[in-house]
Amino acid sequence: METNTNFIGLGIDEGLNDALSRHGITAPSPVQEETIPLMLEGRDVLAQSQTGSGKTLAYLLPILQRINPEKKELQALILAPTQELGMQIVRECERYGEERGVTSLGLIGGAAIKRQIEKLKRHPHIAVGTPGRINELIGLRKLKMHQANVIVVDEVDQVLGLGGGTDVQRIIKSARRDRQLVFLSATINEEIHQIANREMNDHAIVGIEPGQHTASAIEHVYFVTEEREKMD
Ligand code: AMP
Repeated sequence: METNTNFIGLGIDEGLNDALSRHGITAPSPVQEETIPLMLEGRDVLAQSQTGSGKTLAYLLPILQRINPEKKELQALILAPTQELGMQIVRECERYGEERGVTSLGLIGGAAIKRQIEKLKRHPHIAVGTPGRINELIGLRKLKMHQANVIVVDEVDQVLGLGGGTDVQRIIKSARRDRQLVFLSATINEEIHQIANREMNDHAIVGIEPGQHTASAIEHVYFVTEEREKMD
């Protein structure tokens, strides 16, 4: 049944919906419900969302759906603050992208740049990386941004906190003016609003009331559990 509370109702295609079902994901989370239709429309988005809210698939599903696997060039760039989050995002890209013929590559600082440059010659559709390394690869002309239709900065607050602001600005400048730009952040402060106002085009704000800079009614709950029971 097609309702607004399943992925099909949000505009996600059958192929992705089936892949989600196989992984036990059938109902969109609130951040997915808001972000997916906006991103499919091509809107720039600033979303407040915590880890565990389903934020990765909120941006990744529209990206996967809009990539043309026939075009062997970089179509999407995802920036993350840390190596760990970066690799986690790459795994999600592989999980839902591989069967569609969408290829992805992790470009994480700390790992050998030579191997990354080699792998870039295969022209992945999605690059996921830390801002310093991505900027370095753009500077070396190994990562070509002119075909990138979308740039996502995940955990923007952390990226800025780690001093990645200048790299992010440079990376955004290296892309086309009409690229889609999406920020996700646990907290959205004045600096993030300013960057969004400057770099985005009529962006939608998700997860917070307009004019309000912190979430007002989040209830935090935790459960103590064994590792093997974590998913349940
Ligand atoms: P994230 O907030 O992106 O770190 O996602 C946290 C976890 O939730 C990941 O393991 C996802 O696979 C899972 N997940 C994402 N979206 C949903 C959903 N709509 N329903 C159930 N699980 C989900």
